[in-house]
Amino acid sequence: PKRVFSGIQPTGNLHLGNYLGALKKFTTLQNDGWDCVFCVVDLHAITMPFDQSQLANQTRQIAAAMMASGVDPDKSVLFAQSSVRVHTELTWIFDSVARMGWLEKMIQFKEKSGKDAERSSVGLFNYPVLQAADILAYKATHVPVGEDQRQHLELSRDIADRFNRDYGAPGFFPLPEALTEGPGARIMSLKDGTKKMSKSDPAENSRINLIDDADTISRKIKKSKTDTLGDVPSEIAGLEGRPEVANLVGIYGALAGMTDEQVLAEYGGKGFGVFKPALADLAVDHLAPITTRMRELMDNPHEIDAALRIGAERANAIAEPIMEEVRQTVGFWRP
Ligand code: ATP
Ligand code: MG
Repeated sequence: PKRVFSGIQPTGNLHLGNYLGALKKFTTLQNDGWDCVFCVVDLHAITMPFDQSQLANQTRQIAAAMMASGVDPDKSVLFAQSSVRVHTELTWIFDSVARMGWLEKMIQFKEKSGKDAERSSVGLFNYPVLQAADILAYKATHVPVGEDQRQHLELSRDIADRFNRDYGAPGFFPLPEALTEGPGARIMSLKDGTKKMSKSDPAENSRINLIDDADTISRKIKKSKTDTLGDVPSEIAGLEGRPEVANLVGIYGALAGMTDEQVLAEYGGKGFGVFKPALADLAVDHLAPITTRMRELMDNPHEIDAALRIGAERANAIAEPIMEEVRQTVGFWRP
């Protein structure tokens, strides 16, 4: 049986990259009838410095964004990671399956720890093992994520495979597949076309937040970095060496449901003074209903809390029996 799992960290304001790379796909999969489990991964969020007074509210905000963009808590399981114990328990089992050398190759750890890996939390290093536990606690087979998570998904497959072999349980865990295809899998920063758009980027102008109002979105797009060539190129080859322009064209296409070729056919030869306002209007049209619904949900968070409570019970009902099989498979004493 096929099952989808994906998570989003409550680490800051959700942005257009999260929406196009992840959220938008969640709704599509759910409405196509997939068995979906979506999680606000608050255990991941504490691996870097964070604000304790904001954590619970940030968690609600991610849940609100999922609901506002179309995740229906009656159809999909929607919950907070820390409310289901299996995630941490399975992480420990997987810590004994994964190898140091596998984790040492992880690019996200290198990027997030920067020059000071020695001072990073052990949790940040262990992050991809927790991620494997998140997915495999539900025996999920498919994981809709942005391009940046591909390497972690490979690691999840390695862990699942190694567990199945080491503990003589062939086929116990599925080897989960990343669903990263489609436009919007890698949206770049508005200030640097070689860096991905991120919640944790300190530069506010680097991203379009889902909660930005129309004026803010327009201003950020108009001020986004381009280059001195001035015009949108007419052919794909013209995007080469112009990462910021390629990114804006990609965002336009992802929002409008057009290929890059189609966008260039429409805007090729036009100046950014024409293209940027068109892109801003498109982004505003697309995001405004989501923003409005998010604000409504956050104004009175009872609906969110109720959804997360029921989601935790449903998630636990799936994960606990799988975890019990894991305990037996490993060979622990059972009462
Ligand atoms: P942080 O900087 O705290 O890691 P983030 O922006 O990377 O935040 P995550 O919560 O780590 O957000 O990721 C949530 C989902 O959004 C993941 O599926 C991830 O692959 C996807 N995602 C994140 N950034 C982008 C991006 N720039 N383009 C496309 N998808 C993205
Ligand atoms: Mg991230």
